Amino acid sequence: MKHAVLTIDDIGSKNTPAIVDYLCEKKIPAIMFAWGQRVEEYYENALYAVKNGIIVGNHSYSHPFFSKLTMEEAIAEIEKNEAILDKLYQDAGVERVYRPFRFPYGDKGGDNKDALQEYFRTHGYHKVKDTQIPYAFWKDMGLDKDIDTFWTYDFEEYLIRPDSGVTFEDILKRTREVDPVLGKSLLSDEDGSHLIIIHAHDETEELVPGYFRKLIDLLIDNGFVFDPPEFI
Ligand SMILES: [Zn+2]
Repeated sequence: MKHAVLTIDDIGSKNTPAIVDYLCEKKIPAIMFAWGQRVEEYYENALYAVKNGIIVGNHSYSHPFFSKLTMEEAIAEIEKNEAILDKLYQDAGVERVYRPFRFPYGDKGGDNKDALQEYFRTHGYHKVKDTQIPYAFWKDMGLDKDIDTFWTYDFEEYLIRPDSGVTFEDILKRTREVDPVLGKSLLSDEDGSHLIIIHAHDETEELVPGYFRKLIDLLIDNGFVFDPPEFI
């Protein structure tokens, strides 16, 4: 059986409600990581996610590279968004039980990495359960110890842009090619257990309408089961 926990980054966006509707229709549980400035811009859409039972996690306020920030700036980025998400949950009338965090670009903060992990550990953040993830790189990189939510496979569909030369076909092709980190292809990974990223980007929606549906359907058609996120 192929397992995956689905994460969707960079809400709010115009396409957030369409993604939420699709997840609800297919009964696919997910974590959506919200970027504070975008929640402010598309507040109703982010609210829609919370109201529909999606776990919304913290993805910083302005989506910076954390290795370029001082510790003080890093904490301000986290806490500013944390307050926005607290209000979002409050306005949705939903109790905020879990507080996962994902670093923008997976940039764990350079020199401040250890201090930031300690911050998460002592400030009520939740680690997404990862003991089922079988890949050697997960432990080799120390990801099993980190509190923030990294990933095992990123579709990188955000690379599809008018001038990038990357097409949706390229994204699909890569799911069948041997992934250098996994040592096998995503779709052939029979005993796989993944933390998958898709991004809620309106720019992608414009170029490939319904791209998120197509990517999720690809996983379903290839035998993936989406597990509810658990926390440890
Ligand atoms: Zn992001």
